[in-house]
Amino acid sequence: MVEEFAFDNSEERRKTRQNGVGWIEVIVGSMFSGKSEELIRRLRRAQIARQKVQVFKPKIDDRYSIEQIASHSGMTHISKPVMTASELMAQLDPEAEVIGIDEGQFFDAGIVEAVNKLADSGKRVIIAGLDQDYMGKPFEPMPQLLSIAEFITKTHAICVKCGSTANYSQRTSDSKERVEVGATDKYEARCRKCFVPFPDSPTAI
Ligand code: ADP
Ligand code: ZN
Repeated sequence: MVEEFAFDNSEERRKTRQNGVGWIEVIVGSMFSGKSEELIRRLRRAQIARQKVQVFKPKIDDRYSIEQIASHSGMTHISKPVMTASELMAQLDPEAEVIGIDEGQFFDAGIVEAVNKLADSGKRVIIAGLDQDYMGKPFEPMPQLLSIAEFITKTHAICVKCGSTANYSQRTSDSKERVEVGATDKYEARCRKCFVPFPDSPTAI
């Protein structure tokens, strides 16, 4: 899963940085696939390299106003909660060289233009998010972000039913809301064979 990270120190990137050119990295996958871990890993490496890092996450409810991003395995990083893409731009530290964004799927469509602007102004933008919702449908704005990114990483979890590579977030509660915040209490990682979309979903077989 890690070959692509060789580009962290590649000649090409070094040149890009010297030229003051920014870029966008997108990390996508199902729940529990290690998106937040990977985001935090890259942010920590940037900090070790003495680069100024600023991290944002969407404020979807009060539980999420805590000023940090966290992985299911307990890794954390300080972050600023914002309601919208325009609030993110307003809160931007002009000195930040690396911008981290978690839970990208909960941002409005304005995030696409926002991250493009950041990369245009020379920043390295790393944005992580769910690429599919609980029905297996593309979760906007992640598809749009994938198409404008220079670098894409897809992470995978382990299917809790059979141990295969998991690409889906199976909802185990009966809520039909697209946004239903929770972890192992409400979701589990499933492979293509074990994933069961809701009976009334268009993807059901
Ligand atoms: P994401 O941001 O993609 O939801 P996290 O980075 O928060 O993922 O969490 C990844 C961690 O979740 C793993 O390192 C592991 O400790 C834990 N985990 C729990 N369930 C699973 C699973 N089914 N497959 C893989 N990792 C899992
Ligand atoms: Zn399975």
